[in-house]
Amino acid sequence: MDYKVFLSIGYGMYLVASQDEGQLNGQIANAIVQITAEPPTFAVSINKENLTHSFIEKSRAFTVSILGETTSMKFIGKFGFKSGRKINKFDGTNFKMGKSGLPIVLDHATAFFECRLINSFDVGNYTVFIGEAVNAETLNDSKPMTYSYYREVIKGKSPKTAPTYLDKKKITKKKESIMSKYECTVCGYVYDPAVGDIDNDIEPGTSFEDLPDDWVCPECGVGKEDFEIVEE
Ligand code: FE
Repeated sequence: MDYKVFLSIGYGMYLVASQDEGQLNGQIANAIVQITAEPPTFAVSINKENLTHSFIEKSRAFTVSILGETTSMKFIGKFGFKSGRKINKFDGTNFKMGKSGLPIVLDHATAFFECRLINSFDVGNYTVFIGEAVNAETLNDSKPMTYSYYREVIKGKSPKTAPTYLDKKKITKKKESIMSKYECTVCGYVYDPAVGDIDNDIEPGTSFEDLPDDWVCPECGVGKEDFEIVEE
């Protein structure tokens, strides 16, 4: 089977939010599709391990903010790569409470809708929640972000086959001796060799290049390939 075929399916970028006993949480999702026109119903696929999953099950409702092309990697890192069990993602986030009593994230959103849960389907590690829209509003005229825009434009990287591709190892070789800092392009965490990463047994004085290949960003969990050198 050619799994690359599935990469050609188009998606958007959304923020799905819910609440449980006053605790708010939300996460980035791309797998949302409209199922029926009238009443408008939608399917949302959410991983069972995510806190938002249990909030949707308990409140039997969710909100969907449609993210615009201005959405930053830092914002996506916060809602897409961090767990609501460790941080309150709504700290420092602009939101309002909707008619359903659930939070609606307004930062970077071009529109939103609120759904009450009408059905759900167990699909292995995921649940497909079916919601019926009870409210929908346009916030501004910014362009909704597609998943391919996020992959190709926001990350701003060139594939190895592109003439503009720069091998980072080649351009950073000279700087290895002074042990540069590296920044996570997803969440903004900065690896400082002078500090190391004590929580993950990385001693101070360890250069970024000497970090084990399986080392991941302690904040958002992406690998070394998503880090860029901090020019000083
Ligand atoms: Fe990170």
